[in-house]
Amino acid sequence: MPDYSRHGVAAGAIVSDSPVPPSWKPAALFALACLLIVVGIAPLVLAGHGHLKGMLPVVQGVFLFGTLVFGLLAFVRYTTQAHHGAAPLPQFMAPLSEFVMPLSEFVSERREPPGRVVPFPVAHRDIADRPSQWSLDVIDRMEWKRFEDVCCAFYNEKGIKAATTRMGADGGVDIRLYQDPDDADCCTAIVQCKAWGQPVGVKTMRELRGVMAHEAIERAFFMAPNGFTDNAREFAAINRITLLDGRLILAMIQRLPDDASRRLLELATEGDWTTPTCPSCGASMTPRQGKHGPFWGCSTYPRCRAKLGMRGVGPARHAASA
Ligand SMILES: [Zn+2]
Repeated sequence: MPDYSRHGVAAGAIVSDSPVPPSWKPAALFALACLLIVVGIAPLVLAGHGHLKGMLPVVQGVFLFGTLVFGLLAFVRYTTQAHHGAAPLPQFMAPLSEFVMPLSEFVSERREPPGRVVPFPVAHRDIADRPSQWSLDVIDRMEWKRFEDVCCAFYNEKGIKAATTRMGADGGVDIRLYQDPDDADCCTAIVQCKAWGQPVGVKTMRELRGVMAHEAIERAFFMAPNGFTDNAREFAAINRITLLDGRLILAMIQRLPDDASRRLLELATEGDWTTPTCPSCGASMTPRQGKHGPFWGCSTYPRCRAKLGMRGVGPARHAASA
């Protein structure tokens, strides 16, 4: 049984921050209304008036366009909300989401109960606020899997051969480093990444030490945006574990050549970069409301029942790294 709580604070969208996604029904109603005007009301009203008759094709054209737009909107809404709202947009529709989503939010803004936890169109949301430079906030908001990928890419940019371990089989190791010039397949150090919302404690550090002993690896790095507890730091200092918190990681990335740092930022913020990946199956997760508050659930539920805790709300996010 994987310990999901390890990833329980993966950087992600916060429920109270997320726009409440509108239902597909209002858009469908608008589409229907437009269609009614095209085929029924407009001919009925205009055809009888001699001088207004000429305007009929124009009016019909306008409302036909409305039918298409709202129809498409309803369809997109419906598909994104299918399967508990987790189904991603079909690939061919992704470019449309940029204008379809705001429209649909406008249409049904007042119809959803406020504060309800429902899935939201992350694609639209995240592309819109894609950062243009590195900051602690970027490191903090990256979902846990993306954080791992960026850490791995960082070592590659430094000219060190690094590889992430397979999903679900990490055994406490997220990245392996291969720095032995005589043996390219010999792992020389291991890297643990934990995109938690609070400092990593000594228990996790001991587990890493156990893996080092088991695999006879002398050196380890621990990368965690929100740092480490004092006990964890003491333990790491005497066990050849190098600790890298958010500020250090940011400084290391900023010391890279500009183009390398830029490539890492593109990797970090590409597409939907803040919604956590399911630690069990690799699908995207989706916000859910449970008895004890909001949590992340696998979008393929009930096929996969993995859950992640959701990071606390608002101002507390950086408290741990301050
Ligand atoms: Zn899953």
